[in-house]
Amino acid sequence: MHVLDELEDEPPDCASSNLQRGMPREVTEDRFMKTWFPGTGDRQWNDWHWQIRNRITDAARLHAILGLCKEEMAASREVANMPLAVTPYYLRVIVENAHSPLRKCVVPSSWEHLISPHELTDPLGEDTHSPVPGIVHRYPDRVLLLATDFCSTYCRYCTRSRLVGRRRASCFGNSWKQGVEYIRSRPEIRDVLISGGDPLTMCDEHIERLLLELRSIPHVEIVRLGTKVPAVLPQRITPSLVRILRKAHPLYLSLHFTHPHELTPACKRACELLADGGIPLGSQTVLLAGVNDDVTTMKRLMQGLLRFRVRPYYLYQCDPIPGSSHFRTPVATGLEIIRGLRGHTSGYAVPQYVIDAPGGGGKIPLLPKSEQGLDALGNLVLKNYEGKLFTYPEACGPMTRSIFCPEDAHESRPDL
Ligand SMILES: *Cc1c(COP(=O)(O)O)cnc(C)c1O
Repeated sequence: MHVLDELEDEPPDCASSNLQRGMPREVTEDRFMKTWFPGTGDRQWNDWHWQIRNRITDAARLHAILGLCKEEMAASREVANMPLAVTPYYLRVIVENAHSPLRKCVVPSSWEHLISPHELTDPLGEDTHSPVPGIVHRYPDRVLLLATDFCSTYCRYCTRSRLVGRRRASCFGNSWKQGVEYIRSRPEIRDVLISGGDPLTMCDEHIERLLLELRSIPHVEIVRLGTKVPAVLPQRITPSLVRILRKAHPLYLSLHFTHPHELTPACKRACELLADGGIPLGSQTVLLAGVNDDVTTMKRLMQGLLRFRVRPYYLYQCDPIPGSSHFRTPVATGLEIIRGLRGHTSGYAVPQYVIDAPGGGGKIPLLPKSEQGLDALGNLVLKNYEGKLFTYPEACGPMTRSIFCPEDAHESRPDL
């Protein structure tokens, strides 16, 4: 087969090579299937169990399909922080969009072995906020429940690289008995965020059991579930899954998206099934150097998500996990991106940019500075999205206090 013949045995140097060599550019799903999964039909391809069973998990296979360079090959043979796994579906998305920056998100790189001084295995201090296994309780009224450590596809920048991918089974998830008991014993917990790993890699029955258990706790008002499945394994969103999720209302989903290349027809169908099930959909995106760290890409992603009925929620500064320096942008880049979105497009398309503070401080929002202080007349000067200045009469009277007002503003009282 000519695509295989073209491939040399020795991978080339990363600096010198065209990195998309395994497959020709515009490759249809059919062609991709026939080449790499001979004998497979649409029925199998569209079955999420088949996608999980056929994940690409070794360097040789990844090299055959994508064409790795030397350093990638070495890094894939000996992964540093977490296992290598990509669904056939997601790999096809990468191949289809030749040079897709998404490649960097799933292909191990030799940079992963470079540990910078400020990087930590548990940068968010989750383990120290864990009263029982599988629970992170950082905020007063809500907890994170880590339901499984399994993902269908591993993101190389994963904030929980220390935990994920320890087991190969996907159906059952972790034992969450202690976690559920903890939530039951704490009446202040009104919001449970199920995460992992990817909780939607568990089988229907187990997801249903967990949701029913949480729903049996009277003080749990809302349940949220974080997943990347619509991007990496949209086949997982089946009518029967949606029926189960609907029974847990009010249920919210936070969907992990990285780049507009993920917004395929299959992904659209998955999001629409969920939205039609009455599930409010939010998105989470990690800001990644060389992947989505420019206004144009981010605007395309956020606008595309709104078309799929997903409301952008958080844009995260990349957490300092071990071996992630090649993914991190300056904070100024994130602020520039927010500046490039706010006012220039729908307010709904603007996520909240946050840093999850190392050490366990929680999510801290970051905004480009729009307030510029008071002018001579005591008006607050504001900068709009075009960089033009406007004023608003700040209330610096006797009855009000404002950080913008001069000290003496509060002291002038009318003579009574
Ligand atoms: C992100 C997070 C939450 C949820 O935070 P929201 O701002 O309410 O979305 C809850 N617990 C932990 C530990 C988290 O990291």
